[in-house]
Parts: sequence; structure tokens; C-alpha cells
Amino acid sequence: MEKKLSHSSDLTQLKGVGPKVQERLSKLGLNNIQDILFHLPYRYEDRTRVVPVGVLRHGQSALIEVTVDYTKIAFTRKGKSRRMLLLHVTDGTGSLLLRFFYFNKQQQETLKEGIKLRCFGDVRYGSSSLEIVHPEYFQINENTAPPVDDSLTPVYHTADGVSQILLRRLTGQCLELLNNDSLLPDYLNFPVSGVNENYSLVSALRYVHRPPSGANVNQLFEVSHESQLRLIFEELLAQHLSLKMMREKNRRHSAAHLSSDNHFLYQFLKSLPFDLTMAQQKVNQDILQDLESGVPMMRLVQGDVGSGKTVVAALACLKAIESGSQAAIMAPTEILAEQHYKNFTAWFKPLGIEVAWLSGQIKGKKRDRVLRQISDGGAQVIVGTHALFQSDVKYKNLALAVTDEQHRFGVQQRMALAKKAHNEENSSNNELAHQLIMTATPIPRSLAMTAYADLDYSVIDELPPGRKPITTVVIQQERREEILDRIYKACAEGKQAYWVCTLVEESESLQCQAAQDTAEKLQEVFPDIKVGLIHGRLKSDEKASLMQSFQQGDIKLLVATTVIEVGVDVPNASLMIIENAERLGLSQLHQLRGRVGRGEEASHCVLMFKSPLSEHAKERLAIMRKTNSGFEIARKDLQLRGPGEVLGTRQTGLVQFKIADIVRDEYMLDDVKRVATNLIDSSPESIKPLIDRWVGIAQQYVNVG
Ligand code: ADP
Ligand code: MG
Repeated sequence: MEKKLSHSSDLTQLKGVGPKVQERLSKLGLNNIQDILFHLPYRYEDRTRVVPVGVLRHGQSALIEVTVDYTKIAFTRKGKSRRMLLLHVTDGTGSLLLRFFYFNKQQQETLKEGIKLRCFGDVRYGSSSLEIVHPEYFQINENTAPPVDDSLTPVYHTADGVSQILLRRLTGQCLELLNNDSLLPDYLNFPVSGVNENYSLVSALRYVHRPPSGANVNQLFEVSHESQLRLIFEELLAQHLSLKMMREKNRRHSAAHLSSDNHFLYQFLKSLPFDLTMAQQKVNQDILQDLESGVPMMRLVQGDVGSGKTVVAALACLKAIESGSQAAIMAPTEILAEQHYKNFTAWFKPLGIEVAWLSGQIKGKKRDRVLRQISDGGAQVIVGTHALFQSDVKYKNLALAVTDEQHRFGVQQRMALAKKAHNEENSSNNELAHQLIMTATPIPRSLAMTAYADLDYSVIDELPPGRKPITTVVIQQERREEILDRIYKACAEGKQAYWVCTLVEESESLQCQAAQDTAEKLQEVFPDIKVGLIHGRLKSDEKASLMQSFQQGDIKLLVATTVIEVGVDVPNASLMIIENAERLGLSQLHQLRGRVGRGEEASHCVLMFKSPLSEHAKERLAIMRKTNSGFEIARKDLQLRGPGEVLGTRQTGLVQFKIADIVRDEYMLDDVKRVATNLIDSSPESIKPLIDRWVGIAQQYVNVG
């Protein structure tokens, strides 16, 4: 046949791919030959050698050759007892149990004492010995065992109707096509430190898809083989380029040119009971410069919990208003949005500025009225939740979109708000609102520059003066009495406390129930202390009035679900109790803990846990006890959970890697940036193909359009 294939040839060119299979592959993002070649294995199985049973360890996947000693039918203990087939097997170096929960008559008859099997599976501790549950197996003869595989077996991400076996066949076919030299262009043809320049793209791909039997398995598992490094580098490069390009594209939009004399800013600053920290001033300068530039601002402001991001956002809003435009500020929860609304109203009313409030719970006539204010410009600042970017919300002239606690929003959501600057009456304008994006999930700078390379980046790296560090203790649930004493003492002294109930896996309604039960119990224990209860199921006005009475100090002890996680600011609260702390991620604990330590009093945080604790959980809680620094905590969190979880990219599609890991591979980032700049100068034509290769459709997802 000898058809001339290229990397972009569609998959029906391959054996075994008809229109149906093609469609299923497309759902996995696999549309052409190159996509298959860059669908990389995420782990390997080693069937290249037979492992003696005597050296097997828990957690290992291994190929073994064994003789059946005896077989037995047993019953599962729990509940409805079910039959199991157990095979006691040995190879002379040790013995092992093979366990089958599902088996048929024929298996039962053929798997007999004395036969020899070759098996592959995951070895684990059973009740009395090592065992493999449902191994893959086939019977072999004493003398004619077939040869073992000569390369490691790749394991790919699969999907409905796209099996492991299919993917192995397709990658196999595509690897053969690589013999044709021109199939896959190599864009990285100059030296890069840390990457072996002799390792061509083609040889790297061959190696990772089919590592030879002598391959250094440990290196492969640790993702530190040269072939892997070659690919990681290219992937980081492509991701970085993609974000850079996106940013260029955004910059081609126009944005309101905000030039004014800052009189509102001065007035506002004068009215504040404190001076801005140096860090706040610096970030404010960054923002003002952006706003005056006429190019859409895309600035991420990072600042640890309590560093004073809200004031900085308020200054940006004033700049927009002064210039005759509108500003919107969007927060992920009603409670936080409501708090911003209150703050902004208190701050801006004296300046004669109209602040409006919009949330999903505002309905009917009231909603109509607010929408009208937004569209006729009566509202100058609009504070709210996701409601702010819904399709029926029209702005008169939105110039600034502030997104608070950015990690709770998707990229598209924040872009949807920014696009509200397009004005329907004036459809020729292609304006984008300036974007100010705020986050308290601090990540290392180098990491931010890759994960958020489409954004400019400022840090508030200083807390307001006089803050006392929060002392954190980790206490077993059984010592609840002591904790109750503590709460009582604190409240008796006029301080206030939070009690946070967490039930991470359960439904929201169960969470609310748990909080309610706790609140009732605590109120019984403390008849003379006013206990409040707040959770996601309350109506907005109920939430608002509760927060108000906590703010005013009527409620002394506030029992809450994790709805108070972000943003809530009540400086008089100085004690925080978190139940089931072992179940929460570090960043979430840090956020919760950040609700205290905001006033003059020394604050305390009690992390309650249910024993026994896993090693992992012990390590996490110890970190919380040791440090108050959001940066340090975020770094640890990244190590423990990976960037996808921490940055929330899993939901947002911001950065998804095939082989790179920004934490593990952070050391490459300087080189990546350097090579990216080189490439843009020396071979700009290679940039799009590189991005298509690695980032593909995911990129279009976040484009402004
Ligand atoms: P976050 O960065 O977590 O959003 P906030 O904006 O809620 O922090 O600010 C936390 C608290 O610190 C608020 O009560 C705010 O009024 C106060 N604050 C902000 N800036 C300063 C400052 N420069 N000096 C003193 N207090 C400040
Ligand atoms: Mg905040």
C-alpha cells in the first residue's frame, strides 16, 4: 500500500481503526498519528523477567511462574458470604496465595494441584501471607514456557471502548511509522542543559513507549530517564509558549484607558484607620500602571491569608469609577461576597459611590431592579458571586473585573466576566475588562510563571504590622473536654471562636446536619454563651444576619461548615477549632486557620483529629503546627498533592501535563523560558506546531476568542 503518512494523518490510516473506533479515540483527544505518539504511558509493568516468589514485596507488580500446591474454596466473612477460589502456589523460593472472587466452573476444574502457571498481578499482604487477587494467568508446560516480553509493558490512560490492548497496538503501529524520518519534525535542535542533545525526539518516544528489557526500571518509575527528560523539557516548553501566546492574544484586545487624577484614591486612603503596607503600595502601583496603559490588565495578586488584598482591590475599583466606568468584584461564596459588599459600601458611600449587590439568590423584581442599575450605570461597583457573569447581566461600561479567591473559579468563568466589557449597543468594540485576579494560594514564583504565564504577577509579601502569629496545636478528638474548657475561657474573656465541622466526602446536607448537631450540643454545654450556626443551606439574608451578629460580638461561638473557608474577616475572633483536620488538605487548613490572627489578640488554632493517624496525615498536621507561612505550606501541599489539586487546575483545564510535573521539574523552568525566547526569535514557525503537539485542544479551551 505504501501510503505517504504524516504526523497529522488521521487515525483511520491505522489498522484496526474504523469510524467507530476513531470517534472513541477522539473523545480521548486522539485525532491523528502524532496524538497517539504523544499519548504517553503513565506507568509500566515489567513482564520481561520472572521474579522468584521468595523476593516479592507488598506493592510490587510482578511476573511469576509457580506450581499449584493445593486449591480450596473458601467463603468471605462479611455480610452475605461469597465463594472464593484460593490457590496456594509455590516456586521453590517461597509461596503465595492467588485469590479469585469471580471464577467459573471451568476455571475451578482446570486450576488443579500440580499444574504450572505464569501469572502477573499486584502483590499485597493478605490475611496470612502475600497474595495476588485476580492475577492474569495462563497455564504453561514444564519445558515449553513461551519467551517473556522483551520490553516493559506500557500502561496508558484508557476510556470507554478504548482498551489498553488497543492503545498498545496503535502505539506499536505508530512507532513503526517513525522509521520514516520525516514523520515527526524535531523542533528542539539546539543544546539544552540537563537534556542530552543526542537524545532525539524519535528515540525518546521509542524508549518511553517500549522501554527495552534491560531498562533502568527505577529511573523510569521516577521519571528521570534521559528519554523522559527530553520529553518533559519539550512539554514544559510547549506549555510555556502556549501561555505566552495566549497572553499576546489577550493583549491585542483593547481595554478602557483609565486616566484620572486619583482623587478618590487619596480620599479613600485618608479615611482608612491604617496606612498601607509597603507591599500593598507596591502592588497598587503595579495595578495603576496597568490600568492607565490601555492594554487589558491581566494581573494575578498573590498574598497570604490576611495580607490585605481587599483594600488593594478597592483602590483598583476607585480608579475605574473615577474614570467614569464600572467595576465588578466577584467572590466564590455568598458569605465572602456579602462581606465585600458591606466593606465596599462602608468605604465608598462617603465618597458618593453607588455599590450594588447581586447573587443567585436575588430574584424577581429585586433582581430586575439591580440588573437595571447595572445596565444604566446607576451602579458603579457591583459586588457578587457567579451571578455577575450570567448572560442576562448587561453592564453599561465595565472596565475592571476583580476575581477574588481565583482558585475557586474556572478560567472560563473569570473570562466570561471580563468579556462583559463588550457592550451590545456598541458591538464594534472588542474591549476586554481589565482583570485583577486575587489568590491566597501562594505558589512559588517560578511555578506561578509557568502555571500562570498568561498573567502578570504581583505579591503582597508582608502582613500588616502588629499581627501575632497563630499558635497551632494538634489534639486527639478524645480530649474534647480540654478544648471545651478553652473555648469557655476565651469567650468569658470577651474573645470569640469558630468551630468548624468538616465532613469532606459526605454530601452538603450531611455536613449541615453535622454542624447543626454540634451547635446544639455546644449550646447545651455552654448555656450562657451565645452559639451561632452557619452553613451553605441557609438563605442569604439568614447568613448575612448571622455574620453580622458574629461581627458585632453577640454570637461568641460560631459553628460553621467549611463555607467560612475563604475570606471571612472578623478580627475579634481569636480561637479556631477544626474538627477532622486530618481529612483536609494543607491549603484548606491554612485558609480556615487564616480566619483568626486578624486582630490584636494572640490567636490559637486547635486541629482535632481522630486516631489512628496515617503517616501522611501526621506529616501534614505537623507542618501546620510548625509554620504559619502560606508559601511554605503551599510548597508542601504541592509536593504532597500535586499542582492539579492545589491550583484547582483539574477543574479549570489551566495546565494539564502528559509527562511533566511542575514541582518535580521546577529546576528546568529557567531553561524553558530561555529556550522559549530563543525559539520565538529563531524559528517562530515552529511554535504553533509545538503547541498543537503538546497542548492541543486543551489550549483552545482557555482562549479568549
Ligand atoms: P486577605 O488578603 O486575606 O483578603 P483582607 O483584605 O481580608 O485580607 O484583610 C485582612 C484584614 O487586615 C482586614 O481587616 C483589613 O482591614 C486589614 N488590613 C488590610 N491592610 C491593612 C494594613 N495595611 N494595616 C492594618 N490592617 C490592614
Ligand atoms: Mg480576601
